[in-house]
Amino acid sequence: PLTSAPRPVSTPQAYSQYPQGDSQNGPPPMDHSMAQSPVSQPYSHGAMNLSGPHPSYSQQYGAPPPMQQVTNQMSGMQIGSGPPTSVGPGYAHHPSSQPPISAAYSSAAPPSYTQAPPPLSAAPSQPPPPSEPAASQPYYGGPPPPQQQPFPSAHHPSQPFVSSSPYLGPPSQPQAPPVSQQQSFPPGPPAQQPFPNSAPPPVSQASYSGPQPQSQPGPPPFHSGPSPRGPIPPPSMSQQQANHLPPGPMQQQQPPQPGMQGGYPTQQNGAFGQPRGPQPGYAGPHYPGQQNYGAGPAPAPAPPAQKRLDPDSIPSPIQVIEDDRVNKSSEPFTTGVKGQAPPLVTTNFQVKDQGNASPRFIRCTAYNMPCTADMAKQSQVPLAAVIKPLAMLPLPFLDPPPPQTPPYIVDHGDGGPIRCNRCKAYMCPYMQFIEGGRRFQCGFCSCVTEVPPHYFQHLDHTGKRVDCYDRPELSQGSYEFVATVDYCKNNKLPQPPSFIFFIDVSYNAVKSGMVNIVCQELKTLLDYLPRENPEADSVVRVGFVTYNKVLHFYNVKSSLAQPQMMVVSDVSDMFLPLLDGFLVGVNDSRMVIESLLDQIPEMFADTRETETVFGPVIQAGLEALKAADCAGKLFVFHSTLPIAEAPGKLKNREDKKLVGTDKEKSLFQPQSGFYSNLSKECVAQGCCVDLFLFPNQYVDVATLGVVPVSTGGSVYKYTYFQAETDRERFLNDLRRDVQKPMGFDAVMRVRTSTGIRATDFFGSFFMSNTTDVELAGLDCDKTVTVEFRHDDKLSEDTGALMQCAVLYTSCSGQRRLRVHNMAVNCCSQLADLYRNCETDTIINFFSKYAYRSILNTPTKTVRDTMVNQCAQILACYRKNCASPSSAGQLILPECMKLLPVYLNCVLKSDVLQPGADISLDDRAYLRQLLSCMDVSESHIFFYPRLLPLVKLDGGSLPMAVRNSEERLSKGGVYLLETGLHLFLWVGANAQQELLSNIFGTPTFSQIDPNMTSLPELDNPFSQRLREIIDSFRSQRSRYMKLMVVKQEDKAELIFKHFLCEDKSTSGGASYVDFLCHMHKEIRQLLS
Ligand SMILES: [Zn+2]
Repeated sequence: PLTSAPRPVSTPQAYSQYPQGDSQNGPPPMDHSMAQSPVSQPYSHGAMNLSGPHPSYSQQYGAPPPMQQVTNQMSGMQIGSGPPTSVGPGYAHHPSSQPPISAAYSSAAPPSYTQAPPPLSAAPSQPPPPSEPAASQPYYGGPPPPQQQPFPSAHHPSQPFVSSSPYLGPPSQPQAPPVSQQQSFPPGPPAQQPFPNSAPPPVSQASYSGPQPQSQPGPPPFHSGPSPRGPIPPPSMSQQQANHLPPGPMQQQQPPQPGMQGGYPTQQNGAFGQPRGPQPGYAGPHYPGQQNYGAGPAPAPAPPAQKRLDPDSIPSPIQVIEDDRVNKSSEPFTTGVKGQAPPLVTTNFQVKDQGNASPRFIRCTAYNMPCTADMAKQSQVPLAAVIKPLAMLPLPFLDPPPPQTPPYIVDHGDGGPIRCNRCKAYMCPYMQFIEGGRRFQCGFCSCVTEVPPHYFQHLDHTGKRVDCYDRPELSQGSYEFVATVDYCKNNKLPQPPSFIFFIDVSYNAVKSGMVNIVCQELKTLLDYLPRENPEADSVVRVGFVTYNKVLHFYNVKSSLAQPQMMVVSDVSDMFLPLLDGFLVGVNDSRMVIESLLDQIPEMFADTRETETVFGPVIQAGLEALKAADCAGKLFVFHSTLPIAEAPGKLKNREDKKLVGTDKEKSLFQPQSGFYSNLSKECVAQGCCVDLFLFPNQYVDVATLGVVPVSTGGSVYKYTYFQAETDRERFLNDLRRDVQKPMGFDAVMRVRTSTGIRATDFFGSFFMSNTTDVELAGLDCDKTVTVEFRHDDKLSEDTGALMQCAVLYTSCSGQRRLRVHNMAVNCCSQLADLYRNCETDTIINFFSKYAYRSILNTPTKTVRDTMVNQCAQILACYRKNCASPSSAGQLILPECMKLLPVYLNCVLKSDVLQPGADISLDDRAYLRQLLSCMDVSESHIFFYPRLLPLVKLDGGSLPMAVRNSEERLSKGGVYLLETGLHLFLWVGANAQQELLSNIFGTPTFSQIDPNMTSLPELDNPFSQRLREIIDSFRSQRSRYMKLMVVKQEDKAELIFKHFLCEDKSTSGGASYVDFLCHMHKEIRQLLS
């Protein structure tokens, strides 16, 4: 097992988030009327919201910014006069302040960090000229050079499914698999299948019928294993849906075609029926386990070395997604049935809360947990839940708009929420009322607690309270309690939160246009601060600071005619130079704030200061929130590695030579403990930090991201930011980030019933003990993944329960408790476990586990460990649940049949197996980003969605195709969505009509690959395509910039990087190869 990342530990906090107070205190009024009002306003998306009217003020000011200067002398503070230039008094003692050109600070790296050109070599401190398209590309500096090491080629089983056949198919198939239950991919040789626009045949079947071996009287090519065997004959096996891969050689193949990846040799325009050649590097040595399995007839003669599994015969993600969509989207998913896995995240479905949390709040890896630790260990299936406590319920654009409301609010009065006396679990549907309703027995710990008089109610003949369905806490999986003062820090009701904006005004930040864009945008955006009542003004207060190597605070008190600047140039011991007038209400100080935002870009337009600080910026925000005695969020817009002399100063430690070595892990760890310590203080204050990075160089995301990641914040990264091409993405991210519903000063605890407990947590938070997840901020997009382990035996009768309670301060300053309950079944048969798993959630867990493990473990070890664990999962199934069959057959559990393809995507992701083109900052960034992704985001992150743009009429989307170059037609246009990027791939022979409809030109060569949005053409195809793009964007937490990729352009390499079923340039295996590799691993475990 991998070692877990160390979790920061600090002394326990002074106040208890979970008061031990007696829940029976003071009988509150018998007012149980549930507040049925929504908790928060419906979240409205970015720009749409901004189109509304907002007060506009005349903004004509004289050319020289009339910034008033304050002249009070405070120790350590220097008062500037005039715009802060490097020669101003406040800067005098910083001789290092120099014009940008000479600011080479690093003698080590000659193309000094401020000077190197973006893509590959050295980079300039200025943004690259707009004419260089490469500069604005998502996160790849340039085309990835091809890399060495093809994945498993050395010991690659060339023909894993080969020798199984003659005798070892199901010896006597007990019953022919009924089509309704068994899935079998059509037995016809896939080579003859016409390409139907998408890979797999649209049949719902259960076993893969591979093509039969030519030379053998093969068994039914695919059998599914209904007949159980072995020590555990699961009674339910008859329904088991197993996927058996073809026993025989799939297809006679031509010799490998090494040059294949260069073009499209195997496909003609629109035709995919040609036999596919093996992929380069595929041929492997003899399969070692081949000879000694089975006691029966000798295996088939060794096949010719060059045979290849046909991609159409192996489990297809697209088919699984499509089947789920067809079967599960029509009826609402009801949460009352324990042990039932929900529809996939790719399916649009409605939810009826019947006492368990919606899958939009909680998804589990397994809905039937093994009863014992031994069983869990044997299967190696991780037991985890991915929890998104403040998830937004489905957005109205979904079709049809689901009639769902946010969780109900419950008020139990002055005594606070009613809880179990012993384990402190909150009142929920799992509490059993006894003794006529006078007491209740806790479903988590079995302790019996008195019902307080004000909460008493009679029971009906079934033992249920008669008011059961009137009370969300007795009938629903998710709801909120109003928290009392006992649940507040220092037993004091909280103040409304504050937002503080910190704008880097150093040379790079100004020159890129960032400063100007932020200031312009804030003038509008401040009218959209979060609020619970859409009618009322937001109570969130705001403050403003600009900085380079010194900090400039602004007094924007409403009574002032003009804002006042106060410069703090001694950053070694940060303090707040003003209290009154720093944090203000937007409406009160609107004139002053707008004046300030107009002046900032002018004031720093000619700055020559290149150095920045970072630690003091966070410290200043922390001090401001402390002084105001409130929680809040810092928005930091930052451009460079903070090398100026100050606490938290960093050095450039980028060293690509360490990649792939045992020392690689150090690159993901922070440079020093400074930011970890600062995080602790931030969390204690409820100070959440969101970081917007605009780097032209290495900025050490691994270190700068520590505070955001530990405080529940987010990191956004706009490498080589250019105003014209990146403005839209940045502004959409910023708008959403500012407006999104969130809680502050949050603590989350997961309680479980006897037998299991939460042992490990993944996400953006801080933990000072082993149970409480502390989040200075928690927004609607953040998830926490929780791993469970047995500490006792579980019972099939009672199942396993979990309750996630999140205490937080709402954006209006109310203390709330959101509760999500989840019950799953427990099983003593492995088959039941394997029948009710959720592979997307397992992958979410595995990827978070792996991405954290690389902090302490060599990356290769992490990858190997993952392969091994998945092989064990599948081997355990094969051994205990599948029917007897040839060892040469790969048999996969129905709901895990995509585990290999998805696992391969994780293994070859940029974080775990980087190509030469990906920077250390990008890897650190992606690593942090993944840590709080929900299942839907992680799914598309690892397996992007590739849509052929064929018929776009009607409301439905075209069916996606598998992520492989083989699936692309030269005559087509495809949209690829990764969750972070959108690509529009245009085939070289795309029809003229298609091009005209999309781009307004019929000529391929006239399409401008630098466009970031499509022209608004007046034809249905164009309209529909833009609608699709808009709807994709609105479903993601980050805005996806559109990139047009013309076939065989240089930029195509970036696009191909996301075709994750193909072999990757960084050495990642193709899906086919990886499946063979997994099969070999499984066979080794079984032998
Ligand atoms: Zn209890």
